[in-house]
Amino acid sequence: MGRIFNFNAGPAALPLEVLREVQEELLDFDGTGMSVLEISHRSPAFEKVLQDTKSDIRDLLALPEDFGIFFMAGGGSLQFSCVPYNFLSEGKVAAYADTGSFSDKAFQEAEKVGKAVKVFSSKAQGYDRVPRPEEIRLPEQCAYLHITGNNTIEGTEYFDYPETGDIPLIADMSSEILSRPFPVEKFSLIYSGAQKNIGPAGTVLVLAKKDFVAGRDKKLPVMLNYETMLDKDSLYNTPPVFAIYIVGKVAKWLKKQGGLAAVETVNRKKAALLYDLLDTYPEFYKGRAAKDSRSIMNVTFNLPSKELEAKFAEEGKQQGLGGLKGHRSVGGIRASIYNAMPLAGCEALAAFMEKFYKDNVK
Ligand SMILES: *Cc1c(COP(=O)(O)O)cnc(C)c1O
Repeated sequence: MGRIFNFNAGPAALPLEVLREVQEELLDFDGTGMSVLEISHRSPAFEKVLQDTKSDIRDLLALPEDFGIFFMAGGGSLQFSCVPYNFLSEGKVAAYADTGSFSDKAFQEAEKVGKAVKVFSSKAQGYDRVPRPEEIRLPEQCAYLHITGNNTIEGTEYFDYPETGDIPLIADMSSEILSRPFPVEKFSLIYSGAQKNIGPAGTVLVLAKKDFVAGRDKKLPVMLNYETMLDKDSLYNTPPVFAIYIVGKVAKWLKKQGGLAAVETVNRKKAALLYDLLDTYPEFYKGRAAKDSRSIMNVTFNLPSKELEAKFAEEGKQQGLGGLKGHRSVGGIRASIYNAMPLAGCEALAAFMEKFYKDNVK
């Protein structure tokens, strides 16, 4: 079988076990004589998929009862609009921590809706880090603070979250959700496009405090309204059934791995293999992220020249290490090592990096 180690940033690798199960069930799902792609989203078979998926995610995160779970479409990018439309009212100010191009895009959507300010930005330093908690000062009349938990393009991640007191904390966790345990109760709302770490493109997982989304502006376009999505249990209209079904399978797979603490141990080990090489050969593998902000999901670095970067990505590909080219906006190299990337994939990449260094260092 010609499968490679897939370091793509998103859509990204899915666990092989999950893909095999999907393949097996495809023609006859749960004794229905139909595939999951062909059944009603209001059928008992899909209802079970949805409820099991929610309950497995709840278990994995030890999600408190006052949080609801629902799925939306439109990608992470539609959430950039949903957040201010739902929570930024007249006379209030939305605060954004600008730690990467997705943060900046989220901020720009908020500006279209109301008053928004950046309370931190590492843009001038090439987005090399996230803020320390004490660096964040919130404005008067603050509606919420929005952060990007993991900066997929730049390769930085929060491990200490800002303290916001009574001000709601909202996070885009598209590229790190379910990669490790975290203090979910600190947040009022979290959204995550599935296609990085927990499934295919097409759906967004939203975790929200129920009383935070309740009682908001009823004049909102209904498809942007969090309260409707929560009240209708993701079934206001036809949800992305196939994507949700796969997220459900991934959640089950994560439980089988031993849950998020076990998954974190492996994820940290994987990242350490690569960061060790950056630290061993810092003149050759130049890490983009400041050490205390290093993402355990996206490892980003530059080589001494663009030519060497292209050669690295190409030779890696020939050796079955795919998707190593950095995002088109920043260049360089990016290894995305989400949950589904096995330790063996990072071992293979580390061995390749060691050899590539020896063959190409001047
Ligand atoms: C990929 C990504 C997005 C955008 O997701 P789309 O589904 O393509 O709209 C937003 N935020 C983060 C952190 C991402 O990694």
